[in-house]
Amino acid sequence: MFKKVLIANRGEIALRIIRACRELGIETICVYSSADKGGPWLEQATQSICIGPGPSKDSYLRIDRIIAAAEISHADAIHPGYGFLSENAHFAEVCRDSGFEFIGPSPEAMSLLGDKVNCKRLAKQAGTPIFPGTEGGIEDIDEAVKIAGEIGYPVIVKAAGGGGGRGMRVATDEKSLRLGIEQARQEAAAAFGNPMVFVEKYLESARHFEVQVIGDKHGNAVHLYERDCSSQRRHQKLIEEAPAPGVDPAKREKVCASAAELIRRANYAGAATCEFLMDKKQNFYMLEVNTRVQVEHPISEAITGIDIVQTGIRVAAGEALPFKQKDIRINGHAMEFRINAEDPARNFMPQAGLVETWAPPGGPGIRLDSHVRPGYRVPTNYDSMVGKLIVHAPDRETCIKRSIGALQEFQVGPIRTTIPLYLRLLKEPLFTEARHDIKYVERLLSPS
Ligand code: ADP
Repeated sequence: MFKKVLIANRGEIALRIIRACRELGIETICVYSSADKGGPWLEQATQSICIGPGPSKDSYLRIDRIIAAAEISHADAIHPGYGFLSENAHFAEVCRDSGFEFIGPSPEAMSLLGDKVNCKRLAKQAGTPIFPGTEGGIEDIDEAVKIAGEIGYPVIVKAAGGGGGRGMRVATDEKSLRLGIEQARQEAAAAFGNPMVFVEKYLESARHFEVQVIGDKHGNAVHLYERDCSSQRRHQKLIEEAPAPGVDPAKREKVCASAAELIRRANYAGAATCEFLMDKKQNFYMLEVNTRVQVEHPISEAITGIDIVQTGIRVAAGEALPFKQKDIRINGHAMEFRINAEDPARNFMPQAGLVETWAPPGGPGIRLDSHVRPGYRVPTNYDSMVGKLIVHAPDRETCIKRSIGALQEFQVGPIRTTIPLYLRLLKEPLFTEARHDIKYVERLLSPS
């Protein structure tokens, strides 16, 4: 096992990794930016090293400084967390070439799954359901128009190297498709350095269904079932739950097994998430694979009893997965609420500044992953999430009731948070009756 792990991240996920390392007897080194000086999580690390000023591009995204920090602190592995450099195959490669184990997949597996066209090709071979569309990238626009005609409009043009929702265009007819391909190509070339785009069927109404998977370096891969993350605003997830409500058990087993098979074929070691859209008839279509630990991993930990972060560290150190697929069962229901420092009453205006009151809830089934305490100042440089409330209960109905109680107990001020929005959504029949889709939050919030 590793002796010292360097954490190339900040905030709640840095703290989550510190907690996992502590139980494994591993020392931790946190790198931080000057905007995060005095951050409460840094006290919990064995050592912390400032690597630059507030803007991420000068600190958390500086590969040279992170590697230098790993060298002077004698780390033997680097954990990227999520965001920042976590899905950067070049960073994974530099870590490896500099003699540090990267806690995550090999750069080869990351590049393979990170390219949407290659990933789709491998998914097809693994039996993972994908959207109908062009085979590979578009060479010939007329060919793409022909295929769109066969699968039927609307279709979506997407970039092979895409991410963060950029480089996508929905087309409703041939004319908008031709224009969309041109525009998406230009946008993709500028944003990702790769102009390759492809076309697939566009689903007007769907639920977001994602499968937690984990593999090791010995050819094993399992799934930890799924999460429903349909409560979104501007493609940002707000509430996640596990398992996905109302899904046919046989269909669930099949799609989850196919996701595990996909990462096994990619020789993938570590935690990953296969994201799907699910239509009303419970057909699944893969969106992409996220090659890192995800924000919402705790709800899968809650229902399976497996520590995903610790397992990721163990497999990076070369251990075989300590469980088999048949050992993994769903126990109860869990929900996660992303507590964002944003004011839902004022168009989600960011709320940087001093947190005077921070009184989180407690009681059975309540977990809070947060780096905040009273007196903490939310910096303006990073994303607005100040914590995650995770609620576990025997069933979905109890989980909703327990979540309402916990969110009512949770006192934060004077900054505003998304807590009032969640209290509203938890009483919304579309959500409580699981008739929701990925657009219901935006529909509810729109003034019409
Ligand atoms: P990115 O990597 O840029 O986030 P994704 O492939 O994950 O791109 O897609 C981002 C979002 O766009 C999805 O969460 C979904 O809301 C929407 N989307 C993508 N593909 C489709 C599709 N074929 N049909 C409907 N919506 C889609």
